[in-house]
Amino acid sequence: MNFTKRLTMRKGHFKILFLIPFLVFSNCSGKRNEINLTIQKSEKLLLIYDSSDLYALECVENARMSFKYAKLLYDEIDLKNYKGGELSKLGNYFAIVLATEFIKKLTKSDCEHLKSFVSSGGGLAVIYRGYNENLADIFGVRIRDQNQPFLKRGRSGLHFKSDFIPGLKGTAIPDSILRDISMFDFVHVGDKNIIAATSSGIPVAWNLRYGMGKVTYWNSSILSNRSFRGFITQTIASVSSKFVQPIANFSVIFIDDFPTSVPNAVKKIIWDEFKMNLAEFHFLVFYPDMLKLSNEFGLKYTAGLVFNYGASITPPFHLNEWRMGKASVLSKEIEVSKTIAKQFKINHELGFHGYNHTSLLVDDWGDIENMKRAIEYAMKKWKEEGLGNPPVTYIPPMNLIDSVGIQALVQSAPSIKVIAGLYAGFFELGQRREFGPEPWNGKFYCIPRVSAGFMIDDYTKAIILSAIAMLGVWTHFVHPDDVIYTPEEVENPELIRNWFSLPWRGTKEEGLYFKFRNWVKTLKANYPYLRFMKCEDAYEEMKRFDDLKIEYEFSNDEIKIKVNQKDAFIIVQFDAIYKGVDVLNANIIHYGQTSTTNYVVLKTESEPIILKLKTKVTALG
Ligand SMILES: [Zn+2]
Repeated sequence: MNFTKRLTMRKGHFKILFLIPFLVFSNCSGKRNEINLTIQKSEKLLLIYDSSDLYALECVENARMSFKYAKLLYDEIDLKNYKGGELSKLGNYFAIVLATEFIKKLTKSDCEHLKSFVSSGGGLAVIYRGYNENLADIFGVRIRDQNQPFLKRGRSGLHFKSDFIPGLKGTAIPDSILRDISMFDFVHVGDKNIIAATSSGIPVAWNLRYGMGKVTYWNSSILSNRSFRGFITQTIASVSSKFVQPIANFSVIFIDDFPTSVPNAVKKIIWDEFKMNLAEFHFLVFYPDMLKLSNEFGLKYTAGLVFNYGASITPPFHLNEWRMGKASVLSKEIEVSKTIAKQFKINHELGFHGYNHTSLLVDDWGDIENMKRAIEYAMKKWKEEGLGNPPVTYIPPMNLIDSVGIQALVQSAPSIKVIAGLYAGFFELGQRREFGPEPWNGKFYCIPRVSAGFMIDDYTKAIILSAIAMLGVWTHFVHPDDVIYTPEEVENPELIRNWFSLPWRGTKEEGLYFKFRNWVKTLKANYPYLRFMKCEDAYEEMKRFDDLKIEYEFSNDEIKIKVNQKDAFIIVQFDAIYKGVDVLNANIIHYGQTSTTNYVVLKTESEPIILKLKTKVTALG
């Protein structure tokens, strides 16, 4: 088969053609015989850091994790006891990552080696701001005042000026969220592509060409924040002539506290819009709307079922609250929570959120026995209520759990395999988890949630795009009662989830439902290949991704990839000087452009995968 796709894009005033004719020779043995099957040596990076630069160590750790997710091979140089002279052999690397302020330790000759590495086509990614006057021209800056190298506090906010990551352009994190991003006071020299600036317009991150190579510089320490880890991955891609990144490629949307013990209570914001109580809203509005969204965009949900919101931690256990919510359908009264649960499980996943909504913390339960009794009661009722297979996913109430709670789950809910807590937060509270084995008990696997809420503000947008850039993953949770947590309704600002007191639907689609719908629509336009799935399926996909092995080799205009799985997903980015690509042994499922690269998303068929990059495209198909 030989397909040719034609894509016209605007860049500056020039109209360029980014052509992707893609060739699939999956059964063409004649062709394959011509190919050398061995990868001589897989491409790698060099990470330069300084273990005595304590402020930068979080950024270094972030970089290592981003390399792990992207399955990047790398070497390290620690500048702690550095005497100079180690940068003479850079030819083994396709890019160099600087993650310390102490690059002033690099000697003049080290800096010359770095510069000749870049000018001959290498990539330089500065992910933590540092300065060395011998590198000023390669960074495209000079220090305004040597005696006062840093900008004064108060210069903040982060406004993205380009699609450094697809969908990023226009995202503006306000000063109130990012108050001080700790920058050098630079004078800018030469042409560059501004990636992000402060709200007052001072460049924070930029990309420039230096000879045949490229440099991206972050004048900030913000990439120390794990929620921005994907920006490290993309920073490396942005400086690399060629960049290969396997991705897990999934999205899981959780609906926490659903189905739950919903009361027949009247809440003003719901009553004003629908003249319904909460139970009726759950059954007649929220649930059908969420199903509609699922049908429209192919979403799969994982619900966090909780039997009682308030019940005590000690026996007698009961389902009083679970049975409470009622709605009338065709003049027949039905039990809202149970009815939803039984229907929901047909196409979506019912995860376990608790017998009650008390976090499994020993401080809250007194001891493990109380936890275990409540969990065992809930598991028994799961069966009796006809909720289907016992739950695979556990979602900790309030996103909090301790190691005793984990033990209680191991012992009393043997079907649980996945803990879906938080990606950010505090480790000792059971949060701040990676996609991978639960550190407190290897029986469990973590699928942590990156973001939350129906309203995706610009900070949330940035961290979602970061997670997608890091691992090709978006995990998110919402609640049916997000709409009622308005500033009028709750005093504690930490509990507010509907800051602008938006209605659920609204009269002109201004409600939370449509805010979320628009976000999903935009996301799907940028990432049409992202697979929405249940958490239990994402768990299988993550384990498969953990087993994925990849090697690749770059030559002039060619990339050769060996991978041990069929139907794996790989993003290949390349310098925008390449206008087209032929691909062998993989399907191109998407292609596009960031502000610094062109890219294709591949689904593997067999190996080796060969990409032939073209700087010029001729005949149009
Ligand atoms: Zn909850």
